[in-house]
Amino acid sequence: MRKTHTTTIGSVKIGHGHAVAIQSMCNTKTEDVQATVAQILALEKEGCDLIRVAVPTKEASAALPKIKSQIHIPLIADIHFHAGLALDALEAGADKIRINPGNIDQNDLLDQIIEKAQAQNTCIRIGVNAGSLEQELWDKYGAPTAEAMVESTLNWLKYFQDRDFNNLVISIKSAEVPTMIRAYELIADQCDIPLHLGVTAAGLLFEGSIKNAIGIGTLLHQGIGDTIRVSLTADPIEEVKAAKEILKSLNLYSKEPQIVSCPTCGRTEIDVIGMTKKVKEMIAREKIQKPLRIAVMGCVVNALGEAKESDFAIAGGRKQGNIYYQGELFKGNIPEDQLLDEFLKLIREKIKA
Ligand code: SF4
Repeated sequence: MRKTHTTTIGSVKIGHGHAVAIQSMCNTKTEDVQATVAQILALEKEGCDLIRVAVPTKEASAALPKIKSQIHIPLIADIHFHAGLALDALEAGADKIRINPGNIDQNDLLDQIIEKAQAQNTCIRIGVNAGSLEQELWDKYGAPTAEAMVESTLNWLKYFQDRDFNNLVISIKSAEVPTMIRAYELIADQCDIPLHLGVTAAGLLFEGSIKNAIGIGTLLHQGIGDTIRVSLTADPIEEVKAAKEILKSLNLYSKEPQIVSCPTCGRTEIDVIGMTKKVKEMIAREKIQKPLRIAVMGCVVNALGEAKESDFAIAGGRKQGNIYYQGELFKGNIPEDQLLDEFLKLIREKIKA
């Protein structure tokens, strides 16, 4: 696990020793307070820890206090180009601003942004990507390589730290998964600032989830990464769902059960796919928020081993099945038409106990 200092984003702390925070971004117009608040409340309910909104206009920055007063998670203002809007967003009480120092129009205002954020203890994310790479680094590296983006990031980090500003997060995003992984691996060794991970412009739900799982997952597995956003060309709710699955797969998420289910094969004698979907629906419907492991397996070939690893498990047989609880047989030879009901009943009972 990489050691970083702690960064504070409103009510959420990130960095060494803190849970990896899930972030998403609204795709509503920030100026439309009602629509934006509705989307944020839905994202909170799904498990989003930090929410970012675009601030491209003065009307958008003016909407921030109204939005903030109606939500329960830290609000991040996304600023591109306009230093004045960064100052407005700070004035409006944003918990964090995301700027790309390389594309800020009035660099003379950067010191004012830093001073104001310092005075309010507001977090700043330094976001670097190919589009903001300085010309001298293009000339030196010939392309927006991981090394080029890291050098740019370190230059900006020095700028902030020379002004005693440390409540920072860094992101170095790329649409290229190998470049993204390399950039974060390099920066992780060269500073102790918490890192926000993501593969940018990753595509539609299916493809984008896979790209992000590989990019973010590879880094988290090395202990690198403190907040994540799974950027998807989809409803932001899907971003949060995908982020939770990435964290669960690395045992980094404790607020929801993990479902293990077999892929089915020629030996399958029960409706594994249907039962697994119903278990998932029940977890969502009944808001089960414990780090349980629940297994649905089509036959005993792999189920006995899996049952030992799981809190609850089904092992299918010929139109019947066994239920296991914490590795032990709880009930055997249950007809298939009663199997799921018995299983869900057991989960409910044990969770309440
Ligand atoms: Fe096939 Fe059994 Fe494995 Fe499921 S657990 S894939 S049914 S062998």
